[in-house]
Amino acid sequence: MTDLVVFLGPPGAGKGTQALRIASEFNLAHISTGDMLREHVKELTDLGKAAKSLLDEGKLVPDDLVIQMLIERLSYEDCLGGSILDGFPRTLPQAESLERISNKFPVRKVVVFEADKDELIKRILLRGEVSGRSDDTEDSIRVRLEVYQKDTEPLINFYEDKGIVSKINAVGDIDEIYKLISKEF
Ligand code: AMP
Repeated sequence: MTDLVVFLGPPGAGKGTQALRIASEFNLAHISTGDMLREHVKELTDLGKAAKSLLDEGKLVPDDLVIQMLIERLSYEDCLGGSILDGFPRTLPQAESLERISNKFPVRKVVVFEADKDELIKRILLRGEVSGRSDDTEDSIRVRLEVYQKDTEPLINFYEDKGIVSKINAVGDIDEIYKLISKEF
C-alpha cells in the first residue's frame, strides 16, 4: 500500500502540524520537502547551497531538484505503508512527475487546507518568533503567498478533475481540524 496522500494549502495553514500527527497515528511516512530542504541547507550540501537564498526569499526551488529529491525519498522503506506529502507537489510539473510514478505511488487523496490571507500572515509571523525559520519574515511571507496563488492553487483544479479532493477549513481549534482530517483516512 504505497499510496500517497497530498496535503495542499498555503504557507501557515497548519499542514506540517497535522501531517505529523496523522502520519504517526496511521503509520504513514511524513514527507515534508520543506523540512528536507532545510536539512540540506543546514548540512551545506550542494542542493542546500543552491536552495538557501530561494528558501529565504520565499521562492520555489527548481522543479527538477525537488522532484529528484522526492523520488529518491519515496524509495525508502518507510514509504511502503503509504506516505503523506506535505508541501509537494507545488507546481504543475511536480504534479505531473507524480503521474509518471502513479503505478507504484498513486495519489489517493488530496486534502486542501483553506484559510484566509490575514489569518495566514498572522500565524506565520507568530510561528517565526518561536521557530526561528529564516523565511518567516513579512517580506518572504508575501512572496510565498503569491507563489502559492500563482503556482500551487491551480493544482486544486488538476486534482478536482480526478475527484480526489477534500477541502478542510483550516482555521480554528487544532484538535477539531485534526478530527476532520482523520476522517479522510
Ligand atoms: P515549507 O516548509 O513547505 O513551507 O517550504 C519552505 C520552502 O522550501 C518553500 O518556500 C520553498 O522555497 C521550498 N520548497 C518546499 N517544498 C517545495 C517544493 N515542492 N517545490 C519547490 N520549493 C519547495
